[in-house]
Formats: sequence, C-alpha cells, structure tokens
Amino acid sequence: MKTYNELKLAKELIRFPTVKTEDKGIMKFLSRKLSSIGFKCKIIKSKGTGRKPALNLYAKLGNSKPHINFLGHTDVVANLNNWKIPPFKGVVRKGYLNGRGSQDMKGGIACFISAVSNFIKDKKFKGSISIIIAADEETTGLGTPSVIKYLKKRREKIDFSVVAEPSSNKSVGDEIRIGRRGSMNGIISVHGKSGHSAFYGSYINPCTALAKIIAKLKNTSLDNGTKFMPPSNLEFTKMNVENLSENVVPQFATAKFNVRFNSKHKSSYLKKKLNKIINTVARKEKCKTRIEYRVSGEAFYTKPNKEIYMVKKIVKKITGNSSKLNCRGGTSDSRFLGSIPRLELGLRNNTIHMVDERTSISDLKKLTKIYYNILENYF
Ligand SMILES: [Zn+2]
Repeated sequence: MKTYNELKLAKELIRFPTVKTEDKGIMKFLSRKLSSIGFKCKIIKSKGTGRKPALNLYAKLGNSKPHINFLGHTDVVANLNNWKIPPFKGVVRKGYLNGRGSQDMKGGIACFISAVSNFIKDKKFKGSISIIIAADEETTGLGTPSVIKYLKKRREKIDFSVVAEPSSNKSVGDEIRIGRRGSMNGIISVHGKSGHSAFYGSYINPCTALAKIIAKLKNTSLDNGTKFMPPSNLEFTKMNVENLSENVVPQFATAKFNVRFNSKHKSSYLKKKLNKIINTVARKEKCKTRIEYRVSGEAFYTKPNKEIYMVKKIVKKITGNSSKLNCRGGTSDSRFLGSIPRLELGLRNNTIHMVDERTSISDLKKLTKIYYNILENYF
C-alpha cells in the first residue's frame, strides 16, 4: 500500500495555482492519490466565481461506523505580488516550505492525507474515514454545502469532523477552535419630516431619533458571554445623512452596524430584540424606521466532548502544548457542518493571506503525527 509524505504532497499541491475557484486539475490529482489508497472519490460541482463550476471532492473509505471526517479547501487567496520566492513554486528554504496555501491550507490537507495513508497501511480498523475538500472556501462558500447536501441525500452520517484550517497561533496545537461566533449586519433607515431648521415644531428630525437609537443600542448589554465566547457586541460602522444645506432638517438618516454574537443567540432572536429597541425609540421620536439585516453566519459550538478531550491529550503528548479551546477567528467552512461534532486544528496562521506565506517543515511533521494519533485513538 502506498503512503504519502506530507512535505512532498504539500509542494505538489502548492504548484496548482488555485486562486478563486480555479481547479487547474487539482481535484483530479487528489482523486488519483486517494483512489490509489482505496478511497471512493466523487467530484461534486458547485457554482464557481467565473464561468466554470467549482469542483469539490468527497472521498470515502469504508462503510461502517464510526465515521470520522477531515475537511479542507484547496482554493487560495491572491495577494501574489512582491513575493521573495514565487508563490506557486513550492520551494523549501532553511527549514520552511514557501508558497501560497502552505499554511492556509494545502499544508493541512497534505498532513491529513499523509496521516491517513500511513494509518490505513499500518492498522486494521472498523469504521470509515472521509475527506471533504472544497474549492471555494475563500470566496463563494458553496462547495462544502453542496457536499453536505449530497451526503444528506444518501443518508450518510459523519460522527466527528476535524477541520484542518490553520487554527494554531504561536505553535502547532496551542489553540483548538470548537466553534465560531455568529455575524450579522444591519441597516437602520430613519424617516422623519424635513423642514426649515428655524421653525421648531414644523419638522421631525431623523438625526435626533437615530442618535438616540444608537445610544440605546450601545447601552444595551446583549449577554455576559459564555465559557468559550466573549459577550456579544454590536458596533456601528457607518452613519449617513444626505444633506447639502445648513438650515434644512433632513428627511432621512441611516446607520449601519455589525453584531458579533455568541452561542446564546440565534440571529432570528437577535433581530426581534433589536427591532423592539429601535422601534420603541423611533416611536417616541415620531419617526418611521426600516431595518434590513444580512446574516453572514450563525454562532455554533461543539460542547467539549470525549473526542475533543482526546485530541487535546494527543496534542499535549506530541507538542507539549496545553491547547486552549476557543472560538476565535473569522468564518470557515466549519459553519456548514450543522450538528456534526467537530473541531478545527491545523498549522499556524501567522502568515496566512500574506505575501511570503510559509510553514515550517517541522510543523508539517508535527501536525501529521497529531492527525495519525487522532485516527489511532478514534478507532
Ligand atoms: Zn482556510
């Protein structure tokens, strides 16, 4: 049985310039690698950023329970000018593998494929291993949902998922993500009645109402936070009044805000709560309001369970790190996994999305060892 070396595989993956949802043959390449160690591979299309569809991969080995999954993405961000070493060459220098995606997250993919290949060669096990690789995590985010939809249709159930996003901060395994905060954007438009500013009583000033609404919202505590997430926070990001005159009270005033909320809230509940506050103030000021929302993601969270504690123990054994369980960072495809218990554990994130992205080779080795141990202890 073949095994794959994580460094060699990471180099090969970096050489596919998979910016946006460009495939460049990478999914075929991965399918070939995984098929030859026994995986059944299925390419699942989703809408791409250009004319071509994005190609995502679902690979599975085995059909029995329990079912462990690894999740990753092959797409990379641009920011490709002024690199010291060309971003798609995959060059090793002074102990580091250089290239776009080395940390985020072709390096992580190489580590789990290497670990899986070695594990199935070394050990007999009862259960299944699957791999989901999306082609659009950095852009449209439609790939992982289409794979999940495919699994639902086939009634396939994943019991535990390891998302290989670069979660580590100063050294591999120092942080493990067990959830993410939710994010929601809102626009408040306040409708008053315009008039000459000299004639008090003839106009209704929407600026006054908006200022009071903002003050009221900022003075309202949403919650006290949870064990793993900070208190939810609402922040105003823009205020706007179109007005070219000095002596005219305007008709409209608008403001935009963003809420980062913890797992104590669902966006639907938050909307109701905020609407109530906004409308109460507006009514007192005799103004009308229109409020629009866009939810970018609900908060989610896996309560530390036996798998999460198992991984924490493995990280301690291999790296000496006592991992902090937290919910930091931006969004990731983990948000599409619904109720599947999961964690995010990957390489360091100190150069992701930057010029001269790189990972140390010893980090690749450590992470591969961690993933191998996760498989060994899981089954
Ligand atoms: Zn990523």
